[in-house]
Amino acid sequence: MKQFKDTYDQYQWDEVQASIQSKTSKDVEAALAATARTLEDFKALISPAASPYLEQMAQMSHQLTQKRFGNTIQLFAPIYLSNVCSNICTYCGFSANHKIKRKILTAEEILEEIKIIKKYGYNHILLVTGESSHTVNIDYFMKALEIIRPHFANISLEVQPLTQDEYTQLERAGIYSVLVYQETYNKVKYKDYHLKGNKADFYHRLDTPDRIGLAGMHKIGLGVLLGLDDWRTDSFFCALHLNYLQKTYWQSKYSIAFPRIRPAEGVDISNYHISDKEFVQLICAYRLFNEDLEISISTRESASFRDNLIKLGTTSMSAGSKTNPGGYSVDEDSLEQFEMSDERTPEQVAAVITANGYEPVWKDWETIF
Ligand code: SF4
Repeated sequence: MKQFKDTYDQYQWDEVQASIQSKTSKDVEAALAATARTLEDFKALISPAASPYLEQMAQMSHQLTQKRFGNTIQLFAPIYLSNVCSNICTYCGFSANHKIKRKILTAEEILEEIKIIKKYGYNHILLVTGESSHTVNIDYFMKALEIIRPHFANISLEVQPLTQDEYTQLERAGIYSVLVYQETYNKVKYKDYHLKGNKADFYHRLDTPDRIGLAGMHKIGLGVLLGLDDWRTDSFFCALHLNYLQKTYWQSKYSIAFPRIRPAEGVDISNYHISDKEFVQLICAYRLFNEDLEISISTRESASFRDNLIKLGTTSMSAGSKTNPGGYSVDEDSLEQFEMSDERTPEQVAAVITANGYEPVWKDWETIF
């Protein structure tokens, strides 16, 4: 089986990091002038040398996004089905070593959550769980989908890595997109953050998008947790992963998210800060590298910052999110996976999108036509 591991192993973290740091303004100008941009161009665009070119990058990113996606922003809401997790991840409120109330939504509770989310107007949802293969597994997902599928036009999934057969089953049952974040591509540091459970196996996670691609999933979502290591080097490896997947599973579409570490129960905040300006640089670099890439911004970011990102390359946003199982209706006070920053309602976010000259879209039209 073809695996990203074979590509990944050809690169050394320190060499990539040094190469990004060595990029010059000449490299950045060449990257900006290029018609088809390479991974070396991507390195230049995320490098410190690109910082003075941010305005130009932002304008180009805006134009490319408008050309490909029009004036639209997709809106979606996460539904957390469970916070049960067998892994210990040092940055997460759901980590198995935290003594919190655990919950797996029942069929009735799922329906209660659906009622509220439908009231907001959503037709696009993201199902999220912790990673607990004993209790929240393919059988649970298939039963949950039977309940959820009739209510939504577009369903994405962010759960533990599964087998290729399981992804095939889920695709047939109506899952449109699967997201799996590597968190950090630094395999040495990865061990320090993932202390116990299946997620501690770096390569198993790394090859998960291959299994999703082999299963013929319509869309695959990637990302790193910004703050676990040097954001530039991590983002290069994520772009490398994206590049490999697009060449290998060219029928699938791709999305990227930029979660920045947020406060959560029992979690130390980031050692590897990424500033707002650098965050914008990263979004623009991805857009210039890949015109077709869907770029998603979550409510981890503040309201004012998200408003500024609308015109810079963003194609989808969550709004009014709850990151605790039952958070919309049945158990509003259960522990969140992480704290929200943008706490506005979906209506308020949609109004800002409209005020910026964009159309908020509550479903993914491509699943319908
Ligand atoms: S990040 Fe995911 S796998 Fe790790 S503790 Fe949190 S829910 Fe579990």
